[in-house]
Amino acid sequence: MRYFPIFGEGISMCVGKGDRTKFWKDKWCSDSPLASSFPHLFRCAVNQEATVADYLSLNENSVSWSPLLRRNLFDWELDDFLELMSLLLVQKIDVLGEDLWCWKWKPDGVFSVKSMADKLDNVGGSESPARQIWNPLSPSKANFLVWTMALDKCLSRSNLLRRGIPIPDASCVLCGTVEESTEHLYLHCPFSLQIWLHSLKALGANWVLPRSVKDHLCSWKLNGLSKRGKLMWKTIPAAILRSIWAERNSRIFCNRYKDVDHVIQRAVGKLISWISTSGEFRGLGMSVLLQSCSWWRL
Ligand SMILES: [Zn+2]
Repeated sequence: MRYFPIFGEGISMCVGKGDRTKFWKDKWCSDSPLASSFPHLFRCAVNQEATVADYLSLNENSVSWSPLLRRNLFDWELDDFLELMSLLLVQKIDVLGEDLWCWKWKPDGVFSVKSMADKLDNVGGSESPARQIWNPLSPSKANFLVWTMALDKCLSRSNLLRRGIPIPDASCVLCGTVEESTEHLYLHCPFSLQIWLHSLKALGANWVLPRSVKDHLCSWKLNGLSKRGKLMWKTIPAAILRSIWAERNSRIFCNRYKDVDHVIQRAVGKLISWISTSGEFRGLGMSVLLQSCSWWRL
């Protein structure tokens, strides 16, 4: 049974002109439709049946996106919107081609048993961060976000500058000392580093943070954990990374500043809410879940 999700994961819509692909309802830019990954935004969509072509425009050689929403977003919805835009900006679209269903485990997009077998051979594990990132315990939108961080395609200020988007101040809003690159923002900023070091210390783990988010996710391993411990351990990076992202956005867009302790507590809250929906933890009750996370509390 575990192979069927892999099969489903391999099929997706390869978007060309975008006129045959439903923007919100088809699975085209990641492993689930955007309507299920971003339900709040989907509910605000002017047209829930819109195609990709409806929101896509080509300016010279670059593609821009304008998903139309019925109303202005609340502060707490901005994170979702930025995550959606991050995801859209990393899509490679051939606007002259047709929309086609494709098999993504083979370069020509055509299904073959061999390609499926090759994929299954890799199920046992590899050094790629994909298995760490595409974690069923964390929501798809959190996985998308971590994925764009691992690819260094997220909307950090350095990346916006690289895309030619003028930014009046490119410095990191968490420390204000250096330019906000992906690796600085999420790993090496003194603010973020405190969060990682606190968490690793509380877990009894001790290592130097690698240079990139991708390397960090690849090295996120700890032996001797129970089954539940492994699931929780695997989910921690997404909870921390998403909480750092939320704090960064809150400072930039809402001028609200929280300290390191608050961001750690926010990450713990996310971790608990995510794992509490999994079968392995369901029915344990909030007090047990809080106790499970006690090693991480301040
Ligand atoms: Zn910084």
